[in-house]
Amino acid sequence: MNKTKYIFVTGGVASSLGKGIISASLAKLLQARGFNVTIQKLDPYLNIDPGTLNPYEHGECYVTEDGAETDLDLGHYERFLNLETSQANNITTGIIYQSVINKERHGDYLGKTVQIIPHITDEIKYRIKLLGKSKKLDFVITEIGGTVGDIESLPYIEALRQMKWEMGGDCLVVHLTLVPFLAATGELKTKPTQHSVKMLLEYGVQPDVLVCRTEHHIPEALRKKIALFCNVEYDSVMESIDTNTIYNVPILMQEEGLDKVVLKKLNITSSNNADLTKWKEFLYKLNHPSKEITIGLVGKYAELKDAYKSILESFIHAGVANDCKVNVEMVHSETINEQNYLEKLAGLSGILVAPGFGERGIEGKIITIKYARENNVPFFGICLGMQCAVIEFARNVLGYEDAHSTEIKSSTTHPVIDIMEDQKKIISKGGTMRLGAYPCNLSQKSKVQKIYKQDEIIERHRHRYEFNNNYISEFESKGMIPVGINTESELVEIIELKDHVWFIGTQFHPEYKSTVANPHPLFVSFVNAAINYNEK
Ligand code: GLN
Repeated sequence: MNKTKYIFVTGGVASSLGKGIISASLAKLLQARGFNVTIQKLDPYLNIDPGTLNPYEHGECYVTEDGAETDLDLGHYERFLNLETSQANNITTGIIYQSVINKERHGDYLGKTVQIIPHITDEIKYRIKLLGKSKKLDFVITEIGGTVGDIESLPYIEALRQMKWEMGGDCLVVHLTLVPFLAATGELKTKPTQHSVKMLLEYGVQPDVLVCRTEHHIPEALRKKIALFCNVEYDSVMESIDTNTIYNVPILMQEEGLDKVVLKKLNITSSNNADLTKWKEFLYKLNHPSKEITIGLVGKYAELKDAYKSILESFIHAGVANDCKVNVEMVHSETINEQNYLEKLAGLSGILVAPGFGERGIEGKIITIKYARENNVPFFGICLGMQCAVIEFARNVLGYEDAHSTEIKSSTTHPVIDIMEDQKKIISKGGTMRLGAYPCNLSQKSKVQKIYKQDEIIERHRHRYEFNNNYISEFESKGMIPVGINTESELVEIIELKDHVWFIGTQFHPEYKSTVANPHPLFVSFVNAAINYNEK
């Protein structure tokens, strides 16, 4: 296509309706027709990025290859499309205002009053179009965070109104809304949808396609009613019914004709049909596993699944690769102690100790790791999880009772995990960790080298602390081996235990790179080890 088309996805009535999944599903369908697509998320909060938000506020902080700390929806985009996103794919109000204010100080608007319209909206439009221009894309799908009517998202809706006005047929709006079911009367109700479209109309935006999230099928008469009240064509009112897995949504949306309607409205002829053969194979395997195991995910946000989104999705991908249903049991690290650990952990076929920050739950993680190490239970430590494995080994094998990470106990006499040299002088908290992709060399004959079948890998990071290299030879002599090293900085990126069936800790986050098309080799191998453990 010679011109990039811009598709906006807005949401009405309630948050958490699944705009990210609808955006990713539409992108998947267009990609499967052979188009070049990317997805962008506009987040209406004032933080520059979610890196400074805690998981209770925002779920997991996803990290891109270029080191941006982003919304977790970018993880869905990558997992669905098997394409990398970047800093440009997640724009926040913080970024927009910072850039406009910097320009103002620089004198770029000399003599003018700087205003939301046009300066903020111009900056928003610039960030949307930049993505289309820089990568020669056929489609940029832009998801606007929040719900229509929020004060915070108004400038984004206004920017979208302007783009639609300026670009006419090259721009399209998909509005995701809720059609609630009233159990008392047994009815689906369309009024909230009508209201949310009215609200969009007040801002000057007529949606082209309505995707109606629902618990029950929407009958024809109700679709007609929605079409009539909302000025949307009948075939552009789609149902998005609850389903057992997010990976089913592209199939459901294809059945509803979402991609066909979008292409028709944008005047694009596409002779191909979306080829979802591989995707359907994945779904079939997901729904027909031949075995089942339970893996424990030990972390301090056990009650908050969104905090570990990418890890949970990686287990789904790795489960399919192993023809196995992986049940993930969330175990709260704060609740584990010397008295109850067996009761909590004994039924698990594998244990993953989660990434994280700060002191809460650390001792529970260390007790867990001791159990996994001593009992040959497959163990996977990610980032803080790897650091805890190093601390546990130092305390219980090397005999350094007060060994710790200086993040948690700065006065320890054995700082086996210590702050990275170039982090020492950093005071500012936002965007200052070691972030994004770094290469790592794998030792010959290590387990990880066999798993990756490669000598050099590239993985994504988000941390300030690292394995303290002063202790390398001591650890090595007792059987905990640094098997992945960044040769430039000499940072230890992976440790593994010599005499253990599967005990691997990574300083990086493999979960950010697992996709439906490319399940991560470490997760695939870990699940396989857990299956073997379970069979024994
Ligand atoms: N808190 C640790 C550090 O900063 C680990 C970070 C993480 O698990 N992402 O090094």
